[in-house]
Amino acid sequence: MIYDGTAPADSDVPRTGGLPLAPAGFTWPMCGSCCGEPLQFFVHLPVEYGVLSVFVCQNDPGACEFWDATSGANRVYLFPREELQPVSVPETGVTLLPAVSAIRTHVVTLDPEENDGHDGHDELAPDAYDLARSGWKREPEERFGKQREVLGSLGGSPSYLEDDRLPACPSCAGTTEFAAHLEEGISSQTAMNLGGQLGYVFVCRACREGAFLTD
Ligand SMILES: [Zn+2]
Ligand SMILES: [Zn+2]
Repeated sequence: MIYDGTAPADSDVPRTGGLPLAPAGFTWPMCGSCCGEPLQFFVHLPVEYGVLSVFVCQNDPGACEFWDATSGANRVYLFPREELQPVSVPETGVTLLPAVSAIRTHVVTLDPEENDGHDGHDELAPDAYDLARSGWKREPEERFGKQREVLGSLGGSPSYLEDDRLPACPSCAGTTEFAAHLEEGISSQTAMNLGGQLGYVFVCRACREGAFLTD
């Protein structure tokens, strides 16, 4: 997922920031970890089975356990694609990002040979997300390329996440499916504060909700 400029706040395109779109009657989620203040809206992510909508508490980033899938400090919804409308924003708390970042997807095909030559790591399979991100628009003379343009990825498998951190569905306690990686954002002014970590979104399609955590 690559940064693609800005977009209207209520746009149905994939984006971070702006207003959440949700079914009628939806109420803004509150933090169950720190303070009971509203969570901040992070991302609107249309996928083939609906729309993922992710909220993370930013009211007290040093103390609130937004990185923990079971803390109550974050929320993942899977909405149907149709009849979504902008949600009215609570008057208090840290609720909206300062800018909208539209997202376009760019399919990366990885060459299995690319990971050759990393002596001592032969037993580790190459991490697909790591390879895709590190290769984004990298010119030979650039060490990091334009990696800040990378806002995450869709599908695949979670990057370097230990099995014991895979979250259960908050409703049915069953296993969840990995849906997306989320980076903090394109610039420090517009980014989510994830403590410099990568965000992971998981979903239970049956229960239409999911889980969020960071590494
Ligand atoms: Zn909180
Ligand atoms: Zn479930």
